[in-house]
Amino acid sequence: MKITRLLILLLALSVKAFSQDYSDKITLVIHGGAGTITRANMTPEQETAYQAVLNNALQQGHQILKKGGTSLEAVEAAIMVMEDSPLFNAGKGAVFTSEGKNELDASVMVGNTLKAGAVAGVTTVKNPIKAAIAVMDNSPHVMMAGKGADLFAKQQGLQIVDPSYFYTETRYKALQRAKAEEKVELDHTENEKSKLKKAPKTGLKYEEELIFTEGKKFGTVGCVALDKFGNLAAGTSTGGMTNKKYGRVGDAPIIGAGTYANNATCAVSATGHGELFIRSVVAHDISALMEYKRLSLKEASELVVMKKLVDIGGEGGVIALDRNGNISMPFNSEGMYRGYITADGKSEVKIYKD
Ligand code: ASP
Repeated sequence: MKITRLLILLLALSVKAFSQDYSDKITLVIHGGAGTITRANMTPEQETAYQAVLNNALQQGHQILKKGGTSLEAVEAAIMVMEDSPLFNAGKGAVFTSEGKNELDASVMVGNTLKAGAVAGVTTVKNPIKAAIAVMDNSPHVMMAGKGADLFAKQQGLQIVDPSYFYTETRYKALQRAKAEEKVELDHTENEKSKLKKAPKTGLKYEEELIFTEGKKFGTVGCVALDKFGNLAAGTSTGGMTNKKYGRVGDAPIIGAGTYANNATCAVSATGHGELFIRSVVAHDISALMEYKRLSLKEASELVVMKKLVDIGGEGGVIALDRNGNISMPFNSEGMYRGYITADGKSEVKIYKD
């Protein structure tokens, strides 16, 4: 009898020893998009408004982690705060397609199981991040798109809204401006066109490059988190890019491009010119550099964002987090809405380069 008790005690002690507690490492990092975000472009009121939503997102996610919730639950909560705010290009406030519609993309991934879920081009799901989680948890698939994804979300009991819910005047005006610029562009002579040809590296035709001029503020939202169980998770949600063509899908819902999480390496969420992020397989490339080349989180994320992406003209940035709670938030654009909160509640929100 005594021996049995002793054995049970030993077993309990060894289980505790092997299941490391990460409570003092819990961390949450968010972004609200990168792009031409400079002090000159922002009023103090706008700055305060952005900071308030970003801080709220950090707090919501942090509370979940503090209470022993999972990194996935924290990512979902933080992203929902930003999806529900008209300030960001995700959920309410998403940008418009060239047809004047809102088509939303989102994805999630968890680092211990490598499970992932994504939706692309949904038009009626209030919180696309929830739909991505539902695809991961309740379907045999990783990605669902368009009408099917909207229907699936409805069947899952998620909140469905009329497409007009996503409308904001600011984004609609941005579409009109982007369209006007396209028009102006068409009026250029060949000579003027070639003088203006600024981004040959992107491999896009000048006309295509211009489509995204207005999208120079990439207001996508994303979150990466580490929970007390030592599990990483990542999520990204977006309306895509202003004036995108119908059916266009960016990097945000593509696992390995806009989102990736692996306990062996890191969790990453990206924001920027999606086409270039897909071609650079940004999020997985950062993870692969850590796994195969043994680079640190900082080295890997900076190599991809500040060198590899820059070389092909890919503007934007990432947030990245590893299992030790190391944070990296590199971006090659003028600004990136970003912030983090650590186990002790220390938080910081930043917008500009300096
Ligand atoms: N990456 C997003 C996309 O291309 C845009 C963004 O980051 O704002 O759809």
